[in-house]
Amino acid sequence: MAIRSALHHAGATALSELLQFPVPAADERSIPCPCGHQAGYQELRAKPVLTAVGGSTVSRPYYLCAHCHRGQFPADVELDIDHTEFSPGVRRMLATVGQDAPFDHGRQQMKLLADLEVTTKAVERTAEAIGADIAARQHNEIQRAMQLDLPMMVGEPVPILYVLMDGTGIPVVKKETEGRIGKKEGEPAHTREAKLGCVFTQTTWDGEGYPLRDPDSTTYVGAIETAEAFGKRLYLEAWKRGWSRTQKKVVMGDGSEWIWNQAALHFPTATQIVDLYHASGHLWELVRKLHPNDAASQNRWVMIHQDRLEAGKIEELVSGFRSIETSNTEVAEKIRIEADYFEKNAARMRYPEFRRQHLFVGTGVIEAGCKTVIGSRCKQSGMFWTVCGANAILALRCCQFNGEFEDYWEARRA
Ligand SMILES: [Zn+2]
Repeated sequence: MAIRSALHHAGATALSELLQFPVPAADERSIPCPCGHQAGYQELRAKPVLTAVGGSTVSRPYYLCAHCHRGQFPADVELDIDHTEFSPGVRRMLATVGQDAPFDHGRQQMKLLADLEVTTKAVERTAEAIGADIAARQHNEIQRAMQLDLPMMVGEPVPILYVLMDGTGIPVVKKETEGRIGKKEGEPAHTREAKLGCVFTQTTWDGEGYPLRDPDSTTYVGAIETAEAFGKRLYLEAWKRGWSRTQKKVVMGDGSEWIWNQAALHFPTATQIVDLYHASGHLWELVRKLHPNDAASQNRWVMIHQDRLEAGKIEELVSGFRSIETSNTEVAEKIRIEADYFEKNAARMRYPEFRRQHLFVGTGVIEAGCKTVIGSRCKQSGMFWTVCGANAILALRCCQFNGEFEDYWEARRA
């Protein structure tokens, strides 16, 4: 460690030497200003820059526009240190540790792994700035996708491509829930729903006919946003993953209405499947009301109804629910809600038919995604997010999970 420190120190000294820009030549003392006039060279100005080898100093020409009084450091733009005192290498580290764990943990990792002293706030600000930049680039791409302006994705045909959607609550600061109603009646909301989507492919199935997910084929998108905005985001991801050359398209989700609205809008030719795990979750919700505090009866009831569900006998399930007699209005209401749920989604629950086609009927991928991509970073106790901050970190995390982080820095350099 001592030798690493010494080498860093020597490196930072050498780097500072390299970062001493000369006074510009006589014919380079005037550069264009965005306002249309010319900015004139003023002087060399120094600023500290924290780099991968520690603190160094850059000294570079400063230009000022006499017309609009806007100052410029062209060297900062070239070095990608405009309006920041962290080098791109350090910002890449800060973004990586900041998306992975709480910001103060990131600060400690920077010290241990890179021997760099930064503040917790610097980890937060930098990670969020990089995440926001990734999100802004995606926004541009989404706009292009909506104008059908994307390049055709060439490549091998994709046998089966799945698009999955789900939502999960993220705890937010008070101002982000003003005027919103919480899950419990009469209580304010403490969370905002983050929507998560994932895309994966399937080429084959096992000896018993069960589908096999292509290894490492899952990519994610996620944000706190409207269903409309999210639908477009997911459409872009599916497009990038080869939607246009897919032979069999599948959209999977729980019964939420927004999911099927977006599916109809952006993926109209896809087979729609209600995730079997979500569907059986509804059986459990109902039975808890029917047989409260009676685990044995609950298990027996769910076993019978789970069989019907997996057999795709949804009409039988629904008429069974509707024939349950109760004088309890709360239970009657729950029965009505769940009967409606299964009735409305019946066509998306033809599980034997889907199994014959060797399709997944329930995957757990999106639930796992909600935990790993969102929950483990954004739902730790004591965390309260702004929508802006959470969206930046989600953009960053999806970028990391999808293996696109280095591509992002490549695109920045370009
Ligand atoms: Zn100007």
